[in-house]
Amino acid sequence: MMEETREVQGTWDLSTLKFRIEGVGLRRMLDGMKEGKLIGTKCHKCGTVYLPGPFNCRKCHIAINEPAEVSDHGEIMTFTIGYADVRGNPLEEPRVAPVVKLDGCDSWIMGVLQGVKPEDVHVGMRVKVQWAENLTGSLQDMAYYVPE
Ligand SMILES: [Zn+2]
Repeated sequence: MMEETREVQGTWDLSTLKFRIEGVGLRRMLDGMKEGKLIGTKCHKCGTVYLPGPFNCRKCHIAINEPAEVSDHGEIMTFTIGYADVRGNPLEEPRVAPVVKLDGCDSWIMGVLQGVKPEDVHVGMRVKVQWAENLTGSLQDMAYYVPE
């Protein structure tokens, strides 16, 4: 029997989509965030630090599980400026989404930057994490980045 492919027309609102990422590294990161700390995973062979930590080092292809604290300060490696929301509606203010290399970490992590005009953002700019007022051990604990 042949499988049937069906096409469903429509607009899909992904802003409420919930997803779940499994893994010791993410659990460790979220547990640390409850205390305002960023805990990554370090490769015991090459020393590469990831946040959140994967099961395997992406360079050495071996299982890793060594906790490593990462700074909540870092540097913008690249960024985008958004002028519309996920539905395509224009934003009142442009939204800057930098990808940041936190000090002591080798992987980059995305977020939202506030407190600076889009035209003043640049690669290499120093930023720090603005923590949420109430830390709950969720990704929202890293509320956004602000200039250092
Ligand atoms: Zn490695």
